[in-house]
Parts: sequence; C-alpha cells; structure tokens
Amino acid sequence: MSGRFKTRAIKANKTYEVGELADTACVSIPTVRNWLKAGMQKVDDQRPTVIMGFQALEFLNHRKANAKRPMVIGQFYCMRCKDRRASLGAMADYEPTSATGGRLKAFCAVCECPCNLNVRACDLPEICKVLDVEIRVSR
Ligand SMILES: [Zn+2]
Repeated sequence: MSGRFKTRAIKANKTYEVGELADTACVSIPTVRNWLKAGMQKVDDQRPTVIMGFQALEFLNHRKANAKRPMVIGQFYCMRCKDRRASLGAMADYEPTSATGGRLKAFCAVCECPCNLNVRACDLPEICKVLDVEIRVSR
C-alpha cells in the first residue's frame, strides 16, 4: 500500500533528478521509479530522468487525495485487520469522555478484536440509526 512521502520540500519550479526527488520526498530511489511507472510525468525521455517539481506535486497530491477514505458512519478501524470494519452484530457501547464527545467501543465483525472510535456527542443520533448503541456512563 501507499508509503509515506513528504511533499512540503518539493518546489514546483525546480527540476529534480530521480535521486534528488527521492531525497526531497524522503523516499527511496526505487519508490520514485515506481511513481514514474505509475504515471508521474517527467520533462522528457532523455537520460538522466528529470522531473519538474510541479509534475511530482501533481502526482503525489493526487495520490494523497485518493489515499484519504473517510469512514462511513458505523464503521470502525480495526487495528488487527488494518482496515475498516463493521461492528460485530451492529452493536457498540458509548462511553462519554467529555461533555462533547466520547468513545464508541465495538468488536470487529471479521476478527472480533475490540475497536474504539472517538466520536462527537452530536454525531450520536446518526450513529444510533445504523448501530445498536448502548450508552455506558462510568462512575
Ligand atoms: Zn478485525
């Protein structure tokens, strides 16, 4: 899956060779070559390969936008599955942690591992439409 890269130091109007771009984005050279294979534009087909900063930014920002997949209400991120999961039996417990929010506790529908999700109290009515939520107030 997608690794982490840094785009902040990439200058739109600067040219980068593969090694320079790798250093600037804090990734390895093979990673930059993979980006080129995956469709990152370059200046021309001459060697050494030269990439304009804006070409790299366009490609990487697009990647970043695609990597962000907001969770649907009622979904949890399971640390064991490393993916978004529904809760087991569509049930969850809600523990208020402050006046404005709390923690939803549920079990992963796939591996039955506990999953927690911090939610805002104002989102609870929406969550209750899809999940059977039991509110637990700790003393
Ligand atoms: Zn799981």
